[in-house]
Amino acid sequence: MNKKIWLSSPHMGSNEQVYVKDVFDSNWIAPLGAYVDGFEKDLADYTHTAYAAALSSGTGALHLALILAGVGAGDEVICQSMTFSASANPIAYLGATPVFVDSETSTWNMDPVLLEQAVKDRIAKGKKPKAIIPVHLYGMPAQMNEIMEIANRYEIPVIEDAAEALGSLYHGQPCGSIGKLGILSFNGNKIITTSGGGALIGNDEAAISKARFLATQARDPAPHYEHTHIGYNYRMSNVCAAIGRGQMEVLDVRVSQRRANYQHYVEQLSDLPGVTLVAEPTGFFSNRWLSTILIDPVLSNGITRETVRLALEKENIESRPLWKPMHMQPVFEHAPAYVNGVSENLFNNGLCLPSGSNLTTTDLSNVTNRIKELFAGNTAEVNVSRAYAPQE
Ligand SMILES: *Cc1c(COP(=O)(O)O)cnc(C)c1O
Repeated sequence: MNKKIWLSSPHMGSNEQVYVKDVFDSNWIAPLGAYVDGFEKDLADYTHTAYAAALSSGTGALHLALILAGVGAGDEVICQSMTFSASANPIAYLGATPVFVDSETSTWNMDPVLLEQAVKDRIAKGKKPKAIIPVHLYGMPAQMNEIMEIANRYEIPVIEDAAEALGSLYHGQPCGSIGKLGILSFNGNKIITTSGGGALIGNDEAAISKARFLATQARDPAPHYEHTHIGYNYRMSNVCAAIGRGQMEVLDVRVSQRRANYQHYVEQLSDLPGVTLVAEPTGFFSNRWLSTILIDPVLSNGITRETVRLALEKENIESRPLWKPMHMQPVFEHAPAYVNGVSENLFNNGLCLPSGSNLTTTDLSNVTNRIKELFAGNTAEVNVSRAYAPQE
């Protein structure tokens, strides 16, 4: 069997282990500590925000952001439909209802036209949404000017889900720093990882302090344990933050490497019939966390994203259909949704290709050669004369 080519695997730099050893030497194997403080400063500096709270996950960060926005039982929160379930689950944790909004075709993120329709309609039905969650999917920034204009006009706070978009820029502004609050993720498959972790970022000191307070079991100042709020155990461990500080040193290199992967796919695949790779609109800079292609089976002579996925799987190459929209998920079937068919089409025809910053040029060629063979329709023959030696 060929060596497995992963979709997106962790990629350590040279200092992560040094910093983790330092944590061990100091015996500060605990939540909080000097590395957590340092990592928070790194994150705030990098995203041009005043404050960052390092947390145990991006999901936890979003949960806290919604609590800070005052979301409670019976409320409604507008959420991009085309996303990973973690963007919507924290709405349900609070007993609130997600209202899903479909995507536009240039970034695959929340369609501002549909967003305004949804806001107007929910208000007309008697419930003003408590927050809006746009997502920067696969690292591509959403149309934030348009989204912020609507949100500001209706005075609804925006919580940016930038879990996939650390290192992405929208007209020069880091993703996650544009809305009232932003969330980041350092899960194992993200552009940088702390093994698991997340952060809440923003310029509102009171909000970030309150998030830190809630994330540390909501302990009121007192010599004994005193509580006036329900707390959470959402803080990041000092060990994870040590990994994070090492990863921040290589983040810009990781962005370049992921963008180079995308460029390889553009050069090798965009001439295939029915295959599309979406370019960045002017002023949008994507970290290209995951490289994605669309395959139109009418133009490709019947080759679907599933044909491609299975052909890659046979070669021990991991790929995955684009995220299945939340309004199509059984768990959210009763949630209100404002749809235009864009995300459904993306799900039906889109595929995420191997995108790790640690892929070699041989790995990338193996992926694109396999896809080109499939389109050439002479797979059996070409297989024998593969340009590379299969590894055991
Ligand atoms: C990964 C991800 C999250 C959740 O982050 P975790 O750190 O895994 O909890 C939220 N939203 C999106 C869009 C993600 O991709």
